[in-house]
Amino acid sequence: MKNGKNGSERVLLISANNSQRCALTLLLEENGLIVQSAADVVDADFVLEWQHIVVVLIDLDMDTAAAAALLHHVRHQTAGKVKLVVLLPPQAQAALTGVAEASADEYLFMPAHLPMISQAVKRNIKMYRLEKEREQYARLAIHDDLTKLYNRRFLALALKKEFARSVRSGQPLSLCLVDIDAFKQFNDTYGHKIGDLVLQSVAQSLKMELRQIDIVCRYGGEEFVLVLPETVKKAAVVAAERLRRIVERTLIPVNAFKEVPVTVSIGVANFPADCRDEETLLHYADLALYAVKQAGKNMIFPWDPSRCPVPNQDAESV
Ligand code: GH3
Ligand code: MG
Ligand code: MG
Repeated sequence: MKNGKNGSERVLLISANNSQRCALTLLLEENGLIVQSAADVVDADFVLEWQHIVVVLIDLDMDTAAAAALLHHVRHQTAGKVKLVVLLPPQAQAALTGVAEASADEYLFMPAHLPMISQAVKRNIKMYRLEKEREQYARLAIHDDLTKLYNRRFLALALKKEFARSVRSGQPLSLCLVDIDAFKQFNDTYGHKIGDLVLQSVAQSLKMELRQIDIVCRYGGEEFVLVLPETVKKAAVVAAERLRRIVERTLIPVNAFKEVPVTVSIGVANFPADCRDEETLLHYADLALYAVKQAGKNMIFPWDPSRCPVPNQDAESV
């Protein structure tokens, strides 16, 4: 199924029987639903491709093998993205009932009272909406609204998971803490809205330049955390340097006539080179970042006990 299909939620009715198709279409429309009907798989696929279908109602009044194949096909095509309501023939064999049980969200034996059919469809539309709403809440709960990156809550879970994976696999794990330089001054000079634009621009650069398996999070304010699985410290520093340069070159339009650069400082730490647990990994990247800020900003520092403040004796961090 394609994403981004417009239009109202519709019900797709699949029935090979003409009079049944007309009767059910009428019934659903009388109940305020928008219906697309299909006589066969080809028609059904076309509708699924182009219309915003939320429930598929399938009339399986055909031989068992054809009915099971149709059900499989629709389930496969919709990949759990729509609700499936199935009308089984009165003498449906146990095998077909089993298939319906396994792949449909709801099934009814025919002849069923017509109101029961429309109620089943409506119930499944409600379920569909509820699930979409839940998915959206779940998405919001782990994403930052402004930059659309993962948020700090997600980072806590993801870092734990990635760390455990690294321990298991013996693969290295790097973490970069990225902080926009002099961001307060940027806000004060150009306003909060332009400040937000900077955050979005930096977020976009980070996201675009990293690999699919890397995790990019907004850690807070103007700080970002990058989790780089299967990455040794040296490679993380190289990646961080590439990001630093890209950010530096991406000018921010602050008004119709002026574009200004923005820079970031980055602290890098690695498991197992630097530490034994994920809290220390983050802490060391933070210490390295602090050292960059002290040294003049717009640079990368890998954590290094001789250059970065020694852990536990350092009271202040970025
Ligand atoms: P440094 O170079 O040492 O990192 O200095 P800085 O100015 O970047 O850091 P500081 O911690 O002094 O200031 C961070 C600023 O980020 C202050 C805060 O108002 C701003 N900020 C935090 N969240 C947001 C946001 O969502 N939007 C905007 N526009 N500003 C934000
Ligand atoms: Mg900061
Ligand atoms: Mg800053």
